[in-house]
Parts: sequence; C-alpha cells; structure tokens
Amino acid sequence: MKKTHLLLATLLTVTVGGGIALIVHGVRDGSAPTRAATFETPDPSRSALGTPTPNPSTGVPGSGPTTGPVDPPPATLPGATRPGTRPPVVDNGPRTGNRVALTFDADMTDGMLHSLRTGRVKSYANLRIIEMLEEGRIPATFFLTGKWVERYPDITRRLAGNPRFELANHTYGHLAFTSDCYDLPRVPSRLMTEDVAKTFDVIEAYGGRQTRYFRFPGLCHDGAALAALAPLGLTVVDGDVVSGDPFATAWRPIVDAVLSKVRPGSIIIMHVTEANAAMTDEALPHILAGLAARGLTPAPLSEVLGQGSTNPR
Ligand SMILES: [Zn+2]
Repeated sequence: MKKTHLLLATLLTVTVGGGIALIVHGVRDGSAPTRAATFETPDPSRSALGTPTPNPSTGVPGSGPTTGPVDPPPATLPGATRPGTRPPVVDNGPRTGNRVALTFDADMTDGMLHSLRTGRVKSYANLRIIEMLEEGRIPATFFLTGKWVERYPDITRRLAGNPRFELANHTYGHLAFTSDCYDLPRVPSRLMTEDVAKTFDVIEAYGGRQTRYFRFPGLCHDGAALAALAPLGLTVVDGDVVSGDPFATAWRPIVDAVLSKVRPGSIIIMHVTEANAAMTDEALPHILAGLAARGLTPAPLSEVLGQGSTNPR
C-alpha cells in the first residue's frame, strides 16, 4: 500500500466517523471490519528492564537468541496475534482520549551501509531526536531494521534501556515486499517470512519493551505479503499521519503535515535516519508543542492501541 492509498484510508476513516475504534485491513478492503482489540493483556513484567542484552564485550548481539525456524511469539507481547492468522493492519488507535503515538523508522539498506563505509554519509542515526525524547521523558516507538541495529548496537541498547521506548520491526534490510514500492529492491517472496523473523531475533536480543509490531518499508503490502507474515503472529502497523520527513529540506512542511492530520489515536510516522531525514529533529519540538496545544499526549504505541497496561511516566 502506498501513501496515496493511505490518504484514502484516512479520509475513509474520517467519513465513517468515530464508531470504529481501530481501523484494520478488513475495513479497507471491504470485508467485515475486525477489531484488533482481541489481543491478550500484555504482561507488565515484559516491560521490565534487565532482560537479556547483547554481548557487552563485543557490542553486537552475536548470533541472537534463536537461530531455528519461526518460533511462536510470546503471546503476551503487545501486537502479538495468533500465529497462522493473517496479521491485522492498523492505522490508528481509538479516536477517544488524548493519546497519540510518535513512531520513528530506522531504515538501513546495503546502499546506505555503503554510503557510511565510503564516508559519503556520516550517520543514519539521529541522536538529537533520541536526546530530545530522553530529556523530555517522552514515550516513542522505534521501528528498527535489523541492519540498522547491527550498525548501531550501542544506540539500540540505549533505546532498549529507556522504559518509555518500545521496539518494533521494520524488516532486516528495508527491501520492498511488493513489486511496486518506490525504488526499493524487492525481497523474494520465499524469503519474506524469514526476513521478518530474523529481524525479531536481532531486536529481541536487546530486551527492553519488545513488541510484535511490524511496519513494511514504504508501507507497501499486499495479500501475499500479509500471508507471508501470518506464521509470525504479529500486527502490521501503518499509521494515519505521514510526516513526509524523508529528504525534507525544511522543518515546517513536516510540522504542518503532522499537525494538520493528527487526531486522538493517531500514529505519526517519522524517521530517525538523520542523513535521509535531516530536518526531523528540528521539526520535533514544534510537533511536540503543537500536540500539547491540541491537548494530545505522546504515548507508547501499545498504549495508543489499547494493548499496553503500563504507564512509565
Ligand atoms: Zn522505512
């Protein structure tokens, strides 16, 4: 699904009104609406720190906790669904209340790694965003690619160590899961399941607030892609507020895009990729001020979706 479709889905949501608490794929493709609120209550102990961390001597997660085929996910993690069922696709949480989710994607491709190696690009990790969230004690959810985690193990550890940050999955190397997804090279169909499973393994090694939330690169997905992820017991998270921060050359359009669309329950899509989203850290304070002016409060994604039970603030 691409951004134009996302916009249509958002308009549909507005038209339909507040009766639908959680928009899932079944609503968009015309089949019977399904609420995604059937997840089991997350175990608060899952949120605790002190869970396994990567090998501190090497600073890398090593071989990860599991190497075998797909393990069933812990049913208590936010976003966990019954393995074998087609994952729900979520755009937003309930339109009641005042919570919204700040989500940051951490893309990493082979091309980006090459740019780092050759020195053409200094960083794809925007530390100013992380510092701002830390200092403001602001909850956020990070959709991490496996290659970003492997390139930035220390920063991943820092994210995992923050009780206000949730960790989610954005594929291993940011390949496309449909044939027409911007200019991203495509992951072969037979490798889709493994790609996402492997990424969960990479992220899980860091502990912290783990989830079974997953976001497709470019938000591009179709029935085959969703079917490929059915064994993994996850929830696909698109979002209803596309900030447009990749390659933005000024902060104001990002702020305008977010504040013109944001509503209670919104999932705001931004990037923590620095060189590919260089204005996001400048936009963030304005976004936070605008949210506050509208009475909206950032919360972890699981809480915005009504699947979390902890409030670390
Ligand atoms: Zn991405």
